[in-house]
Formats: sequence, structure tokens, C-alpha cells
Amino acid sequence: MNRFSYTRANAVADAIAQHRANAAAAFIAGGTNLVDLLREDVARPKVLVDINRLPLKQIEATPDGGLKIGALVTNSAVAYNETVAARYPLLADAILAGASAQIRNVATVGGNLLQRTRCHYFYDVGTPCNKREPGSGCPALNGINRIHAILGASEQCIAVHPSDMCVALAALDATVHLDGKDGARTLAFADFHRLPGDTPNLDTNLRDDELVTAIELPMQGFASHHAYVKVRDRASYAFALVSAALGVELDGDRIVAAHCALGGVAHKPWRRPEAEARLRGKPLNAATVREFAAELLRGAQGRPGNAFKIDLARRVIVRAFELATQRSFEEAAS
Ligand code: SF4
Repeated sequence: MNRFSYTRANAVADAIAQHRANAAAAFIAGGTNLVDLLREDVARPKVLVDINRLPLKQIEATPDGGLKIGALVTNSAVAYNETVAARYPLLADAILAGASAQIRNVATVGGNLLQRTRCHYFYDVGTPCNKREPGSGCPALNGINRIHAILGASEQCIAVHPSDMCVALAALDATVHLDGKDGARTLAFADFHRLPGDTPNLDTNLRDDELVTAIELPMQGFASHHAYVKVRDRASYAFALVSAALGVELDGDRIVAAHCALGGVAHKPWRRPEAEARLRGKPLNAATVREFAAELLRGAQGRPGNAFKIDLARRVIVRAFELATQRSFEEAAS
């Protein structure tokens, strides 16, 4: 049994100082993933720094027309916030597609970003796992890999990021606000999570002493044309096999802008900005959607357990375009 001490922080600087005082410290807020990791002996912190009292629970407008959401706002509070529902329904839909109502009521925005993969081997300390213990091996490569990555994986790790909310945040071009011993900084959402490469133990580019303090959304929320499509093994309370968050801006039947992120396929929400750029000005039709799906999935590689995801992802992308634009692209899906 891992014994740990527990402290509370009342200010961001206090939390960072308490975390820095012990290299084996961990922040805890909703605890909806960390408590799992503690129970399974995957996480073995020596100190838990409770950050629930920090003043990071506001949702407020930004001067440039966006929205800033504090890291301690619960998933439910974000999904049911009137401004989010009206201006960023893609985010609300993605959140409500995840977990259960009880979990969403305590899970926080910051914790959602930092949740760890649901790879079965990662949670089983009786098996090797490069993410849990670098250099020990990856049994998922030739083992049970139904839920694993088809894009951006490495021979070190084929895990996927499990969040629904993060797929929408990626599509919305969110910014992550951080604070640490060297002061506050921001990261584009695309730069927050990492691909596994040779360091699958690192999920994000968060520094050891840093705390996520907020998420910022830009003005463009794709409220008119958006869709979050999630395919999973159960109808509820299951992680995505494949999901897609899509926002489209149209001028008649021409695409002005489209942002599309995939979940359940990679170690981070998967986007290809260059493929999205090629959509600008194109007619919205089956050929356009088909070409985009092929480009977004370029290089996808399946294993015996998860090769089905490649075609599934293509269909999910097409379905997202159909739902977002209220058109049919059957030709592209066949
Ligand atoms: Fe560990 Fe990643 Fe392999 Fe899963 S896929 S066993 S998390 S190294």
C-alpha cells in the first residue's frame, strides 16, 4: 500500500509551492481519474495537494470575444453554462457524450485534460508498460489492442487519449493557461498533449511544477454548423472507439472554414490543419468530404484488433459532416 500525506492549498502560488516541495507530489481536484490510479497502484504520490479551494471556478468573457473557463469548473457546469451551450455547443455536446452525470458533476476541466489513457495494460501493474515503467515493453503491440491508436503511434506505445472534451477543445483551437514557478504561460491546445514517440511516459508538455489554470476559447465557436459523433462499444458510459468533433463555416454551398479533430485514434486529439486549409473555398459535396477524410486518415495503421477503426473513422468523419451541415454524403460513406 502506498502511504501519502494530504494538504490543501488556498492560492495558486501556494499550490505550486507545496507541489515543488516534494518531487512525488500530485495535485488532486475531482479525482475521477487519479483515485482510479491510486487504487490500482499505478500512481504512487507521497503528497496529495488538494486544489479544490483555488479561485479557478469562473467562466468569463474575454476582451477579444472569447470565453475563459477556469480549470476547476466541473464538466457539468461547462456543459450547462448558457454561453457555452449557445456559442460553443460542440464543446457541450462532447462533454455530455462522456462519462456519467455523477462523474461529470465532480470532474474538472483541468483534470479532463490530464486524464491518462485507459489502456488495459497501463492499469495492470502485473504487466509491463512503457508508459508506466519506461523501457519495460508494450504488450498491447501484439496483445489486446481493440481500443488502441491507428495514427501517430510508436513502437513504444499505441495508447490513445480517452477524453471527449479534449477532442472538441482541439477542434475549437482552445488555448491552455498554465502557471508555475517561472510564472504564467499559455500553450496552444495542439501543443499541450504529446505523441508517444520514445517518451510515452509523458502525456503532455506540462512542466513538473506547473498547474493548468484555465482554458480559453476563441470567438469562433461554430455554433451554426457543428457535430460531435462518438462511436463506442456501449450506448453510454464508455470511451470512444472513434469520435469526431467538427465545426464548419459555410457560405452557401462553399466551405469557408472547417475544423475537425478525431478522438480514440491517437495519443492526442488528431487534427491535420493543412487538410483543413485545403477545404477552404471548396464546394460542400461527397467528393470534398471523401477527400478530406482520406487526408485526415493518411498513414493510418491498424493492428489485428483495431484495423476496423480506419474505415470506422472515415465513416464517422462523413457522418459528422452530414450532421453539421444537414446534408447527405452517402456516396462518400460507401
Ligand atoms: Fe503501456 Fe502504451 Fe503499451 Fe498501453 S499501449 S501497454 S499504455 S506502452
